Amino acid sequence: MAEHRTKMLILGSGPAGLSAAIYGARAGMAPIVVQGIEPGGQLMTTTDVENYPGFADVIQGPWLMEQMQKQAEHCGAKMMWDSIVEVDLSQRPFRMVGDGGDEYFGDTLVIATGAQARWLGLESETLLRGKGLSACATCDGFFFRGKKIAVIGGGNTAVEEALYLTNHSDDVTLIHRRDELRAEKILQERLFANPKITVLWDKTVDKFVGEGDPLGLVAIDLKDTKTGEISQIAAEGGFIAIGHDPATKLFAGHLELDGDNYIKVEPGTTRTSVPGVFACGDVMDKIYRQAITAAGTGCMAALDAEKFIGENEFEQG
Ligand SMILES: Cc1cc2nc3c(=O)[nH]c(=O)nc-3n(C[C@H](O)[C@H](O)[C@H](O)COP(=O)(O)OP(=O)(O)OC[C@H]3O[C@@H](n4cnc5c(N)ncnc54)[C@H](O)[C@@H]3O)c2cc1C
Repeated sequence: MAEHRTKMLILGSGPAGLSAAIYGARAGMAPIVVQGIEPGGQLMTTTDVENYPGFADVIQGPWLMEQMQKQAEHCGAKMMWDSIVEVDLSQRPFRMVGDGGDEYFGDTLVIATGAQARWLGLESETLLRGKGLSACATCDGFFFRGKKIAVIGGGNTAVEEALYLTNHSDDVTLIHRRDELRAEKILQERLFANPKITVLWDKTVDKFVGEGDPLGLVAIDLKDTKTGEISQIAAEGGFIAIGHDPATKLFAGHLELDGDNYIKVEPGTTRTSVPGVFACGDVMDKIYRQAITAAGTGCMAALDAEKFIGENEFEQG
């Protein structure tokens, strides 16, 4: 088994990890990026990206991530095709173990392992993901201007997404499986006061209905949770807003996590509860969850790590 050592070990190769790699490499830290099972991160699963600054025309998610990776390599970062399965943060250098047994040692560690949106798990949902179905209103709402939109969920995210989508559509339906929402009261008040939003209570999605060539969402079959009755609503855009799972299982017990399992950082920094460990991107951010914010905090993590190393080397003389 091989052993890899670096001043800056980065877990994750989405916008956060690769931005940290670009800044870390340019600061002379020779970062190693362990890419994980999804090299390039979440944007590899999408097509059009219209809100990443710097491009006048719509770009493709996988192309953007390929460019970021090349940029990081060009600056001197090393990519490893591996996934971390074990961590030891009790002493520096921090020690990680990869899937195949390789050991990684980092004087600093940047965690950029992202968060996955939860999906309902229906076959019709898998078929129509990216073809009318999305898990991110900020990312994709713009593509459904003037269309009928449905949001599935009942917590803060679902209500916020429904409200946000009224910027694009006058016909937004919130579908919830219970007869009351979990969202904060103030959000509920804004929701109920908005004439563009209708709430359908006690309904679960039975099936997403797609039609056409190219295939696109046209309707949603709903099942009443009390009567079992099936009904259908028209919808060209569907947003699943039932939560996210940050990829932090590895770090439970090693780092402080918040109640939703996101990594806790000191406000305004990427510093975690363990000195020398930094977190950036969706794994520490449950509010914005965008490529640009992930890239921004990735830059912050590299700068925080570089500063940490500088301070430590100074202390050790
Ligand atoms: C379908 C879709 C469309 C989107 N569209 C847009 C859009 O148009 N605009 C926009 O700004 N945002 C969009 N987003 C959101 C955006 O993709 C995320 O906010 C962003 O990718 C978060 O970046 P990240 O680097 O924090 O994490 P991610 O992109 O999630 O990357 C996480 C990385 O961590 C790695 N990893 C996980 N576990 C391990 C491990 N144990 N060891 C090593 N590596 C590990 C993974 O392999 C992956 O490389 C979209 C998201 C989705 C799902």
